[in-house]
Amino acid sequence: MSTHPLVSRIDWSLEGPTALELLRTLLRFDTTNPPGNEHACASFLADTLADEGLEPEVLSPGPGRGNVVVRLKGTGEKPPLLLGAHLDVVPADPERWSHPPFGAEIHGGYLYGRGAIDMKNMAAMSATTLILLARAGVKPKRDVIFAGVADEEVGCDHGSGWLVDHHADKVRAEYALGELGGFTLHLNGRTFYPVQVAEKGICWIRAKVRGKPGHGSIPTAENATVRLAEAIARIGRGRMPLHVSQPVRRFVEALAAHQPVPAKQVLPLLLHRATAQTVLDKVMPDRASANVFSALLRNTISPTVLRAGSKTNVIPGEATAELDGRIALGSSATELLAELRALSGPDLEFEVIKEAPPTETSPDTEVFRTIGETVRDHDPNGIPIPYVIPGFTDAKSWSRLGTRCYGFSPVRFDPTHDIKFSELYHGDDERIPVDGFQFGLKMLFDAVCRIASA
Ligand SMILES: [Zn+2]
Repeated sequence: MSTHPLVSRIDWSLEGPTALELLRTLLRFDTTNPPGNEHACASFLADTLADEGLEPEVLSPGPGRGNVVVRLKGTGEKPPLLLGAHLDVVPADPERWSHPPFGAEIHGGYLYGRGAIDMKNMAAMSATTLILLARAGVKPKRDVIFAGVADEEVGCDHGSGWLVDHHADKVRAEYALGELGGFTLHLNGRTFYPVQVAEKGICWIRAKVRGKPGHGSIPTAENATVRLAEAIARIGRGRMPLHVSQPVRRFVEALAAHQPVPAKQVLPLLLHRATAQTVLDKVMPDRASANVFSALLRNTISPTVLRAGSKTNVIPGEATAELDGRIALGSSATELLAELRALSGPDLEFEVIKEAPPTETSPDTEVFRTIGETVRDHDPNGIPIPYVIPGFTDAKSWSRLGTRCYGFSPVRFDPTHDIKFSELYHGDDERIPVDGFQFGLKMLFDAVCRIASA
């Protein structure tokens, strides 16, 4: 194994457990978003970094909200590298958990807590990486910035989005490492490390139907509630056309290349208009995977919110819905709206309430190759693959500054454990393997050393 020289100068038997304790402390802050309340967590991280001689800032967009940003100065020979992690978490229902979601308890080799993998682990690893670099007294060629941000789970407006709008100079970087990737994915006996290179865009829409108000005792054809329900059913049951993009093609081909027969031959059929739907409907073994691939291959709309009427005996004059639209790689909001219109029929008026284009970074870069080499040096069986996700991350915001974003927040899951990263993500009993976290810390530190000093 050939790691960066700094890696072997660190006593990992000491630093691994210290970073774990830092993660446990972060997990005990309840940063459920909404409302977020990340400020206390961000301040704690800032204090921890300041104790090591770094100069962090907590930047607050409003009461209770906070973003911690800190920079380890390099020589400036190359532009900065940003490590990003969001500090907010999605809600957790303690009734459904085996251990308290904000208790940070360790059982059976796992640390339990909401945010254990999404993604206070990355916050703890990133802060530790900066601390270790600062202690080593090295000046890398790139500044290394860490941003622990608020509000990712609700749309980034008070976190990365706000930093990019109001403090761009503090977070501008050539490359960023963050969500989503670097975890082990065991598939058919192979160990993959997906590294996100692209994510779909957002096109959230308010749809309105106007009808004719009247008395509930006299049914009419102009009932807005009925017309909205009909249109929503058409949208919900319909299917938009396929868009096969370059990032999805690379992801599927990389995955297929390391699969046994028949998956090796079947997966590439997803990339052809004539065969994709049959594979999704009839060949893919589980619905969950088929739904993910389907979402990656097209613009999608999920109707989520309906509002119509307020009195049982009054036919409302209008009815509205909110639609969660996601833009396929290589497509656009305009194209999505046209496809939506074809499904919905003419009754609906559309208003776009939030829009962001898809985000895409080429894997043909030195930094991506360095991440791949680091993965293979730490796990000789590990296969890094360029990964694409249907959701969004803080990469949406960072990429507005021209930053090239890769999803790399490494954590190792043992193949003998019957546990999947994807099921823990926003799931009950979110937890991280203690050894897998420490493995990830060392891998991240090595990757940062290589990228920042190359
Ligand atoms: Zn997340």
